[in-house]
Amino acid sequence: MSIDNRRIGILGGGQLGRMLLQAGQLLNLDIRVLENDANSPAKQVSNKEHFQGAFNDADAIKSLAATVDILTVEIEHVNVAVLEEIEKTTNVQVSPSPSTIRVIQDKYTQKEHLMRHNIPVAKSIALVEQSPQSLRSVVDAHLNGVYPVMLKARKQAYDGKGNFLVKSAQDAENAVETLSKTAGSGGLYVEKLAPFVAEIAVMVVRSVGGNVVAYPAVETVHEDSVCSVVFAPLQTADSNVQQRAQDVATNAISTFSGAGVFGVEMFLLADGGFGALEKEPLINRPLSGQILLNEIAPRPHNSGHYTIEACATSQYANHLRAILDLPLGATDLVVPYAGMINLLGRNDGSEEGVLKLARKALEIPGAHVHLYGKAGCRKGRKMGHITIVGESSHAVHKSIDELSALLPPSDS
Ligand code: ATP
Ligand code: MG
Ligand code: MG
Repeated sequence: MSIDNRRIGILGGGQLGRMLLQAGQLLNLDIRVLENDANSPAKQVSNKEHFQGAFNDADAIKSLAATVDILTVEIEHVNVAVLEEIEKTTNVQVSPSPSTIRVIQDKYTQKEHLMRHNIPVAKSIALVEQSPQSLRSVVDAHLNGVYPVMLKARKQAYDGKGNFLVKSAQDAENAVETLSKTAGSGGLYVEKLAPFVAEIAVMVVRSVGGNVVAYPAVETVHEDSVCSVVFAPLQTADSNVQQRAQDVATNAISTFSGAGVFGVEMFLLADGGFGALEKEPLINRPLSGQILLNEIAPRPHNSGHYTIEACATSQYANHLRAILDLPLGATDLVVPYAGMINLLGRNDGSEEGVLKLARKALEIPGAHVHLYGKAGCRKGRKMGHITIVGESSHAVHKSIDELSALLPPSDS
């Protein structure tokens, strides 16, 4: 017996897919994974009929589609043309909709879409061609020649790998060359630097009928452009910030079509907009700063892992409910406070650094350890995470600090 007999196929089989499958098992859903690696994190947790192939390989996607009723994604860098074809020519439902994935997977097109809908974003301008001259003329013409600026790859970006902080006009050659190597020839765009005091995120769920609900706003801390720690809920002296962040996120997601969860990353600026960076704890600062949307992920998101233990319904369960058009679950926190620390591989390539934290966490009340079953602990690779729930922000911060202290230095 299953809550819904329709079969679901997921493009991509990493940790997000793994947690989707785990949530689906509670409802006894049939979920199949398309992924190159036969032993990927998602495939390990169920013995359904999985598929071997790349999530951007047209034939592989069609093979999966031929056996399911609904297709979804755990990554946005998929072959969207094939998803559009499947949506048009078959009865398979694709959620979120291919048109949404198409807009989001090109970060500049995404920014244009958001600007058109009056969602606040950092000023962004596309380069006419992928050259240093084009970069310099964009900065001169649109940003008064003021550096630093952020140069970004339009496509295939993740973990900051498509970003380059251009400190001066002299950096232009190096910036364009570096991104051309790492991100290919999919085009570049310039973003005005956002002098944020905090990075924040809100998970949003959109039902088939277009109903949109938000999870609490959280604070995300990044290390080398990779999310390392998340605190929920976002705490600021000005309690309106929580609501305003949820409003920006739900307004943004309301402009897209298709069902599913979306991760909305944002910047919280200091009072008066583009002010100075501050280092005090957020809760002590009288923030009423502007919120800018950084980017949207059309899928479950790292900043929403905490929802598994800390919210009434996890982002994974709600993604499945959304795409199956089942009643959406409540998004409220069921604990006063939660923290999440990513277990990122360190330079030495050994698992010991990560396992030290996981073992320590077993001694901490309220700590929940997740290991993703990945072989090969490369630097920066997401090997697992730990969520800590607690009665106070003080207690949770203390436990997160204790765990962070065990991390070997990132260049060890
Ligand atoms: P993800 O892995 O979240 O998909 P990504 O590779 O798409 O990341 P972004 O989210 O665009 O990259 O940027 C990564 C990080 O770089 C941000 O979280 C932020 O710390 C920093 N950053 C990006 N854009 C700006 C900006 N305009 N101003 C200041 N910092 C920025
Ligand atoms: Mg991104
Ligand atoms: Mg990002």
